Amino acid sequence: MSDSTLPKDGNTSASNPVSRRSFLAAAGAVAGAAGVLAASQKAFAYGPASNYLPGSLVKSTIKRLDKFPYELGGVQRFREVLNAFGNPPGYAEFKKDYPPTTMQKMQDKVPGFTLVDQALYNAAWTSYRGAPSLFSWEPLGVAKPVPQIGRWEGTPEEANIIIKKAARIFGAADAGVARTNPLWFYATVGRDKETPIEFTDQVTSPVKTPDLIQIPNSMQSVIVLIIPMDLQMMQFTPSALGSAAVGVGYSGMIEVASKLAEFIRGLGYQAIPMGNDTSLSVPMAIEAGLGEQGRAGILVHPVLGTCLRISKVLTDLPIAPDKPIRFGAQEFCKSCKKCARECPAGAIPMDDEYNEPIRVSNNPGPKKWYVDVWKCHCFWSTNGAPCGTCQRTCPYNKPQTWMHDLVKGMTATTSILDPVFIKLDDLMGYGTYYDPDAAARFWKEAAWPTQG
Ligand code: SF4
Ligand code: SF4
Repeated sequence: MSDSTLPKDGNTSASNPVSRRSFLAAAGAVAGAAGVLAASQKAFAYGPASNYLPGSLVKSTIKRLDKFPYELGGVQRFREVLNAFGNPPGYAEFKKDYPPTTMQKMQDKVPGFTLVDQALYNAAWTSYRGAPSLFSWEPLGVAKPVPQIGRWEGTPEEANIIIKKAARIFGAADAGVARTNPLWFYATVGRDKETPIEFTDQVTSPVKTPDLIQIPNSMQSVIVLIIPMDLQMMQFTPSALGSAAVGVGYSGMIEVASKLAEFIRGLGYQAIPMGNDTSLSVPMAIEAGLGEQGRAGILVHPVLGTCLRISKVLTDLPIAPDKPIRFGAQEFCKSCKKCARECPAGAIPMDDEYNEPIRVSNNPGPKKWYVDVWKCHCFWSTNGAPCGTCQRTCPYNKPQTWMHDLVKGMTATTSILDPVFIKLDDLMGYGTYYDPDAAARFWKEAAWPTQG
């Protein structure tokens, strides 16, 4: 538009009902709004975590606590050899590459268990199971320390921000920081030979030998990382196809933790990336303010629910810790019980109140719901694929929309409507079924709608 077409006096003309002044004011408002939008996008638009930001109601109902929110009883450091991955009868058979049930289902071309499903499942674990492991206690040589500059120096609060930003860029959906609590580290690791882990002032760097693992007391912080799993793919659990989402999640654990460890090494500090080795994940995540302990024995995160995995990085970088949170999940679990109802093994308790430990694989002490993890893993053996039904059924697993924000916000403030919300969750068909027909259709549909 040439300037001559605009009214010269700033008044509204008959042919142009918008005055220059009001046009400029409106343009200013639009520009201002665009600026706010741009600023908010600038603040939030990076990394996969952009899909997992809490809605404003959920955010406003999260309470920060000064101490661990649950009674710990006389809990002791646990021995890795006792956990469920080595113990239930028949589980060793399942750990073979293709146990008989899996092989039979492949031969019968059962949807979700076919060769292509199995190949996807196996390949999804590549980063986690590939060798050499990226969970290296030694620097990988990717980070380049700069002796001329020296190591990064900043306040612990600044460190908290930069570490979380890096974690987010590397693919974490959320991250928190806890003080190192030796209670959550295995007392011993290994199955055939148990190697003790000790925290000590006798070493300045971690030392690993077959007889003893020493971690310096100076490694005072643990950064806990939340890795999202694909909620849509998890609908195919319990099958090899659905478990591919779990494999991708595990690979994400090692990819994010190893990159963050290299980042910390690049800052001039020590870092040990950890998956399910070395330490327990759920209590550390609770201490780091990332969620609550749920009925199914796994973490409930306020946004991702239970559809997640956890990895950690132990470090001597001075970094401010976060506080544990409550948002009503344990209260909701009391009436929900959906994971217990849907568990194909009957492994998750239906009790309103907490139960007692069931197997040697339960670490006794804390007041919580104990899961019969042996029954769980025996089901995996007979099923021919890992499960994860409890992770897909949780009503907290919802995409971030205003409606889900509203419901989560309401459950955080009152439990009166919990039974109604649980009923609605069922009626809407969330996470209650495994549909073999959908698994059969999966490989026949185009990967991207533009190619269909
Ligand atoms: S993984 Fe499956 S069998 Fe195991 S506790 Fe969860 S729902 Fe039950
Ligand atoms: S499914 Fe229900 S009972 Fe189970 S962890 Fe989720 S909220 Fe709790």
